[in-house]
Amino acid sequence: MENHKGWFEALRPKKPSDLSAFAVMIVLLWVIMLFELLVVLPIYHDPLSGWYCIHVFCGFFMWLNVFANLYMMIMTDTTGKSLGMPSSLKPGWTYCPFCQLNSPPRAHHCQICNECVLKRDHHCIFAGKCVGFRNYRYYICLALHLWMGAVYANFFHHEYVTEQIGEFGFWTLLSLFSPFVMWLLGYTTLYGIFVAFIAGVSIFAFLLFSALLFFQMVIIFRGQTSHERKKHKREYDHGWKRNFLQVLGARWYLVWIWPSISSPLEGDGTNFTKAYPEQQKCL
Ligand SMILES: [Zn+2]
Ligand SMILES: [Zn+2]
Repeated sequence: MENHKGWFEALRPKKPSDLSAFAVMIVLLWVIMLFELLVVLPIYHDPLSGWYCIHVFCGFFMWLNVFANLYMMIMTDTTGKSLGMPSSLKPGWTYCPFCQLNSPPRAHHCQICNECVLKRDHHCIFAGKCVGFRNYRYYICLALHLWMGAVYANFFHHEYVTEQIGEFGFWTLLSLFSPFVMWLLGYTTLYGIFVAFIAGVSIFAFLLFSALLFFQMVIIFRGQTSHERKKHKREYDHGWKRNFLQVLGARWYLVWIWPSISSPLEGDGTNFTKAYPEQQKCL
């Protein structure tokens, strides 16, 4: 499961665009967490009061889960190299000229990762890593905690943001999406720009991760990968319950708590049972 490369080499995004997305996400996670913890929280709750401790616990639970799932997603070996690929081509397998190995059904080569990824879904620019059979669970939990964090942050700082930049309306929207212009026009201060930026990023994150989670839920529900959805293939649809188990593992109900909780997957990522012909559907 663990990658044999050094951890720094494994964590390092391979492309400038991946590195930028990764860096922006890490910086924003820190900035928003510190803003909620050091600016908003002390205004509304006395330090070490019951609600103060609950908010600190909930905030850190989601924040640490984001980093832990991201780490596991990046460090998990998504290839079949540790299994040893067969030298002769089996039915349904393909030969990858880049890896010079035979590749199982549903595996695809990623030009950025430069490897064949088992049951490849897509290349995630925020992690700089492909999402596939072995790390799909971490990707879903990462997106889930980012989404929950965005919902939490939006509710948590709503009152403070309203006090700083005003009630919801045309000028507030303009402050959220073009705070610099509002500052130049003299409608806000530099601190107002900062608050509007935090609020704007939180709203954008909520919309982004809502859409991403919805899309992922739909393709998992149908037993597809993103590739198969594009090709209108639905030959591994075994019903939504088994489809979800094949992504989140046998202990699917625990995976959201912490990424190191074991949740074994069905198979090794090289063999997938096709649904019976009568169950095959097209989109
Ligand atoms: Zn390959
Ligand atoms: Zn990749």
